[in-house]
Parts: sequence; C-alpha cells; structure tokens
Amino acid sequence: MNITERQKEIYVTRSSMPPLEEYVEEIKPIFDTHMLTNFGPIYKKFQHQLEEFLGVEEISLFANGHMALEMAIRAMGLEGEIITTPYTFSSTTHAIVRNNITPVFCDIKADDYTIDPSKIEPLITKRTTAILPVHVYGSMCDVDAIREIADKHHLKVLYDAAHAFGAKYKGRCAADFGDMSVLSFHATKVFNTIEGGAVVYHDSRYRDALHELKNFGIHNAEDVVAVGGNAKMDEFRAAMGICNLRHVNEDIKKRKAIFERYNEHLEGIKGLKIMKNMPDIISNYAYYPVYVSDEYGKSRDQIFDELAKMGIHIRKYFYPAVNDYMCYKKLYGNQITPIAHDVAGHIITLPIYQGLEMDVVDRIAALILK
Ligand SMILES: *Cc1c(COP(=O)(O)O)cnc(C)c1O
Repeated sequence: MNITERQKEIYVTRSSMPPLEEYVEEIKPIFDTHMLTNFGPIYKKFQHQLEEFLGVEEISLFANGHMALEMAIRAMGLEGEIITTPYTFSSTTHAIVRNNITPVFCDIKADDYTIDPSKIEPLITKRTTAILPVHVYGSMCDVDAIREIADKHHLKVLYDAAHAFGAKYKGRCAADFGDMSVLSFHATKVFNTIEGGAVVYHDSRYRDALHELKNFGIHNAEDVVAVGGNAKMDEFRAAMGICNLRHVNEDIKKRKAIFERYNEHLEGIKGLKIMKNMPDIISNYAYYPVYVSDEYGKSRDQIFDELAKMGIHIRKYFYPAVNDYMCYKKLYGNQITPIAHDVAGHIITLPIYQGLEMDVVDRIAALILK
C-alpha cells in the first residue's frame, strides 16, 4: 500500500497535530540552548500550562502514560492486592503486576463499562491496599461511590484517566479525582504530546518520589535515594503539548459533533446499544463504542469484517478482557467477571477524530445499518 492509498483508509483515530509553523516556533529556542531534556524550560512551561488548563495543583510529567502508572503505584508504596477492572487496555494491569502486586478483577457496569462499585467490597481482603479504576471512552467512573468505599476501608484510589483528558464531573476535571490520576498523552489520545503522560496528585509529599522515580532515583548530584528508572518527558514532546493544548477544546467540540451525528443514526436501533450519558459527567468524546447484541441482524465480527473490506478500520476495543489474555488467564482466570467478558465480545468502537468528515460518518453508520 502506498502513501496515497493509505490516506484513503479510515482508521478509528487520527492524531491531532498543530500547524507546522506553530511547532517550529515552539522548538526554535532549543536550537540555541541545546537543552533537549532533563526538565528544561519548555518542560516547565508545559507543566504550568497543564496545571492551569486542568485546574489542578500538582502534576508530574512522564515519557508515557504507562510509566506514569507504574511509578504512581511505586510512589504510593502500594503492595499486596489492588482491586481493578479487566475492561481496560493492557497497560493498567501490567503496571500492577510489574510492581509485584496481585490484580483482583472487579466486574463492570453494563451501562457505562466502568468498575461496578457495588461489587468492590466483597473483594477487599487484608492484603488490599488500593483501588485502580479506569475511566473508559471519555466518560467517568462513579467517583463518589468509589471514594466512600476507599475511605471506609482506608484504601488508596489511583485512577487510570488515560481516556479522560478534558472530561469533567460536576465541573471538576477527571484527573483531579482519587489520591492520584494518571493521564496518557499518546498519539492516539484526545490530547497528545506524541508519547507522554502525567500523574496528577494531591499530597505534595509525592512530588519528590515521582520526580526521583522517573529520573533514576537521583535526589541531587550526590544522593541517589531510590531504585528509579527513566521516564522523563523531553523538550520536543513538551513543545508538542504546548501547541496541541491550544487546540484541544476545539478538537473536543468537533468530536462532540461527530458523536451526536452517530447518535442520530444509531440511537434506538434494535440490537445496538450506544453509550449512555451519565448524570453530571461531561465526556471528551474520545471514543464511540457500540455494543452489538446477539439480536442484531449481524454479529460484531461481521460488521468489523464488512467495514474493513470498505477500507474502514473500526476496533474491537477492549477485546479481549484483560483476564482473558494469554499471559493472565492461567494466573487469574478463576476470577469471573461475566459482564466485562460479555461486553468485550460484543463491542466495536467507530472512527472519531477532529477532521473526520460528516459524510464519512454517515457512510459508516449506513454500512452498519445495511
Ligand atoms: C493509552 C492507555 C494507557 C497507556 O498510556 P501510554 O501513554 O500509551 O503508555 C493506559 N491505560 C489506558 C486505559 C490507555 O488507554
């Protein structure tokens, strides 16, 4: 496939990019200073702008969302067992397991696919140290119920907010909930820094720990205080962040228009279930999930294959559920999460991104309904 042919293909997402001139302007100073990384001026400027944009006090930038998750778990000193959801991207569970902690899978709600708070308490044991829920598709978890359970049992809450940049609950940004929230700025997300991520936290005692963990445990020139790694965000990615941040609200508006257009076509169709709007939550419209039930004339896989033939590459996301992965099935396969398993078997996500033409949205909907 050559480049022009590839451009005609429609994928689930297309990375947001600023005008080239804007990016060049932002990186120009680097060519004088030769300061490419290690917490330079662009890193600091981006961090400050993000704190303002999100309305949060403390944020720590990372090279990617996954390392931010791993190091957030480390910084909080979690151990034993963490209650989490199997309805997520591999990263969430890997971050737990790579910290030598046992993931305990809690089932999800059938309406918004987030962790079901009513099923958390029976899973709490003496070894439980935290709950790690995931905001999915741009909507958010039941943060109030989760906080109540965590407080009652003295557990920490760490949100995987990788999907939720720009989402809000009662006017407060998604990343502001829990003891910590982790954002991903990967190219495929609503807001990107090419690769990147961040931890938003509330207790300023975590500031040094997070900073040291992502920089080899180095406290100062002569003191190395922790077994850290390397997960710093560099100046070029921070510059991309500064540029994309200027346009992200506009991007979300365009996503919303596409989301509503799909709704017009697909709402109320027998056998198709679209994402429910939860009270007090403003989505960032990151994804457009459709649950294709067995009553629908075509199966999920049939729709996937038919669209692929037309050059439209939708995704089965999330499929399979994490506890059905080859690397986890043997270890945690006895943990039954029937709703997550069922949703993973029936879900598709449709193309949605700033720049997707409305007539393409109409065509995709028509192909599904045919
Ligand atoms: C993208 C994503 C991550 C990982 O983020 P990266 O920046 O790609 O490392 C973690 N969790 C979820 C739910 C994600 O979608």
